[in-house]
Amino acid sequence: MVGDLISFPLIALLGACVGSVVNVLLWRIPIMLAQPHNRDFNLCLPRSHCPLCKTPIAWHYNVPVLGWLFLKGRTACCQQPLARRYVLIELLLAILALLLSFLLASPVLLAAGVLFSALLVALLLTDLQHMLLPDVLTQPLLWSGLLLALSGAGPISLESALLGAVTGYLALWLLYWVVLLVCNKEGMGYGDFKLMAALGAWCGWKMLPSILLLAALLTLAFMLAARAAHRRSLHEAIPFGPGLALSGWVGWLLAVHLPFIW
Ligand SMILES: [Zn+2]
Repeated sequence: MVGDLISFPLIALLGACVGSVVNVLLWRIPIMLAQPHNRDFNLCLPRSHCPLCKTPIAWHYNVPVLGWLFLKGRTACCQQPLARRYVLIELLLAILALLLSFLLASPVLLAAGVLFSALLVALLLTDLQHMLLPDVLTQPLLWSGLLLALSGAGPISLESALLGAVTGYLALWLLYWVVLLVCNKEGMGYGDFKLMAALGAWCGWKMLPSILLLAALLTLAFMLAARAAHRRSLHEAIPFGPGLALSGWVGWLLAVHLPFIW
């Protein structure tokens, strides 16, 4: 438990700040991908502004959660309601950071766990909303997993992380071609291969079958629930990324706590 070293309010605040960065990624990356030649729009530019009237936002209104509470969920400039998802994502990352501080034994693992969680939340929500797992998120996830294994601070060896990255990619690549040749349709996208490679780098190659099985079950459950609620037709594609992200998060915690099994 890391809470003895750093106070819990500080961990929650840092988690909420990371949630604020996730909000920036969720909003800006799809626009950047839709406008690849627009050099005036990136993760930093233009600076933070009201999505409705474009007025620049003062720094103190950008303080995670507290800014939203102070403004009572409305914009400071034009008094229009702000989407609740911004504050919910900040709260989610604050809760995940607190939860990880109970579950992890060192500050390095806690920092790694918060980074892992933030990238997975960003990937999960981007795939749900846009059916897209952008390289700008999957690649940092892959490299950070390999670097954690290289540092020796993570739960798995560098050998297992490298094998995990390669076998994770190849497993879904093979599955993709089998489904394409047998069923004549694309079962998943290239972003899924890259996410699976990144999960292999974080969790090790031995964890991959469990992650894939759990991801398939979660996706099936989501598909049945969405169809039962009549929110999706029988022929509408269901993203696989959210299931992979959730099962990968569980898989990493298992790898941390049961290193000798995995
Ligand atoms: Zn405004």
